[in-house]
Amino acid sequence: MKKNKAVFLDRDGVVLKEVGYLDDFKKISFYKGNIEAIKLLRKYGFKLIVVSNQSGVARGYFTEDFVKKTHRLIQKKLKKHKTKIDAFYYCPHHIKDVKVKRYYKDCFCRKPKPGMVLKAKKRFNIDLSKSYLIGDKLTDIELGKNTGLKTFLLLTGFGKKEKKLINSRIKPDYISKNLLTAAKIIIGEKNEK
Ligand SMILES: [Mg+2]
Ligand SMILES: [Zn+2]
Repeated sequence: MKKNKAVFLDRDGVVLKEVGYLDDFKKISFYKGNIEAIKLLRKYGFKLIVVSNQSGVARGYFTEDFVKKTHRLIQKKLKKHKTKIDAFYYCPHHIKDVKVKRYYKDCFCRKPKPGMVLKAKKRFNIDLSKSYLIGDKLTDIELGKNTGLKTFLLLTGFGKKEKKLINSRIKPDYISKNLLTAAKIIIGEKNEK
């Protein structure tokens, strides 16, 4: 069976504007160009998979149900533009400042650990070597390195700050202004090969 290629997307600071802990549906908003970027990547056959740390659940800032509803609202907004995200994965756990005990877990899914990517790989039959990870933090980049993905650090969200922390161990393959720029590079590469 032919394998799929995917672009793994961080949520906050990449797909959605960074607003601290997103705890109100009114705070959901896309960066300019993101819908176009999502459409472009889908057009070129990439699965789009969100991988997001949501420790705000463990910390008691919002519920897991709120996270799920947020993802449904994102899909609803995208549907208006005749596009979508293929799947949302999130890690609700944490081991520090945990207010909701059942989420106290030193889990395998919190980025930069590979759990969410590996789960998606299995579900969508993804060839990770032909896939990408786009994030605004070095923990995203580290996740990409840990799972054999090509990585983009975006300068949206925390990107400008995180860029200063790049080191020889955690170094993105690309640095891009925003998601649309990154999408265009990915598409361009595809044409070259
Ligand atoms: Mg982020
Ligand atoms: Zn987790």
